[in-house]
Amino acid sequence: MAVPFIDIKRFEPGFLDQWNEKVKTMSVNAQFIGGAEVTELETTLSKWTETKYTVACANGTDALQIALRAVGVNRGDKVLVPDSTFWATFEAVVNVGADPYTVDTNPTDLQMDFATFKEAVDTVKPKAAIIVHLYGWGSSQIEEFRKYCSEKNVALIEDGAQCFGVKYKGESIYKDALISTTSFYPAKVLGAAGDGGAIFTNSEELSVIARRLANHGRTSHYEHGIVGWNSRLDSLQAAFLNLSLKHLDARINSRKKSAEFFYKTLPGLGIQVIHPPKDYTENGYCNVTLVSPEERPKIEAVLKDKGIGFGNIYPGAMSDQPGAKPHLIQRFGKDQNARRISASVLNFPLFAYMTDAELEEVLSAIKQYQSTR
Ligand SMILES: *Cc1c(COP(=O)(O)O)cnc(C)c1O
Repeated sequence: MAVPFIDIKRFEPGFLDQWNEKVKTMSVNAQFIGGAEVTELETTLSKWTETKYTVACANGTDALQIALRAVGVNRGDKVLVPDSTFWATFEAVVNVGADPYTVDTNPTDLQMDFATFKEAVDTVKPKAAIIVHLYGWGSSQIEEFRKYCSEKNVALIEDGAQCFGVKYKGESIYKDALISTTSFYPAKVLGAAGDGGAIFTNSEELSVIARRLANHGRTSHYEHGIVGWNSRLDSLQAAFLNLSLKHLDARINSRKKSAEFFYKTLPGLGIQVIHPPKDYTENGYCNVTLVSPEERPKIEAVLKDKGIGFGNIYPGAMSDQPGAKPHLIQRFGKDQNARRISASVLNFPLFAYMTDAELEEVLSAIKQYQSTR
């Protein structure tokens, strides 16, 4: 039995009928930009994230660019970014004209390393930093990151594209961020029927700037207070997200159940599975294991042979990407952990509504590999 790495087509019974009905009524009314669906979405997202203000936008990369500009990052400013992340984190910094500096990864929680980060803040003296909450959890030192940045006057942006629904000490991970972002790319935990994103903050001032930036710098319909661009979330995407949010608890619970299955079974097969740090309730975004670089291709060969999907999130450090030309990216320190982890990381299938049979199939492939070793 083939098992995909991710299957985003497992909608709840009746979901697609509701969606089709929505598309029909919204099309009949030409309800395409803004309106009730976007307002409802922003209200619901603020409830989920326990933040005062939500600004919906076109995608997660734009959300980062909006957040960077909202906190005042300009041409030539320095911004710290983790060396283990999705490329968009780095792109956003370059696209606002700032200079990114990468910071190495902590080998235990696989998030940006706090000790190295402190050194980088003191040496590079950045205007801002982006911390990325990867894999469906966040840094074990999230509170220290926030405190240090506030003491040093570094605007900390939190890239929460992978952590929608994650809780830290029982509250939304987004709650205490200065400003945070998410992505509604269909493969994320909360995915749209296309692209989408959002910015969350408790600061009214930042929310006002973010909203302007995402809508042509508008202060009124024909008055433009600043130069922004068009990064509006369209109403159909908002409607799809509103329908999806009604099922999000169930989807996250299902993901967490599968994550739990891997925590229980993989260690017995000699596979090092990474758990979220203490105080986190994960959203089950993905499964993360570390295997030796020698072993990884051999396990992958067995998975491929059996039609089982897998991932390497992420297969290389940002600073090693062909697009990270020396004039575009500076590496703070050696970034050895980021490289070492990218050579070892292996993700087994994990998505909402995986079946027991699929989970067992993944397990039996790993057992098969172990027995021939
Ligand atoms: C998906 C993702 C993004 C980009 O989001 P898009 O909506 O695809 O632009 C940014 N950062 C991280 C960590 C992501 O996983």
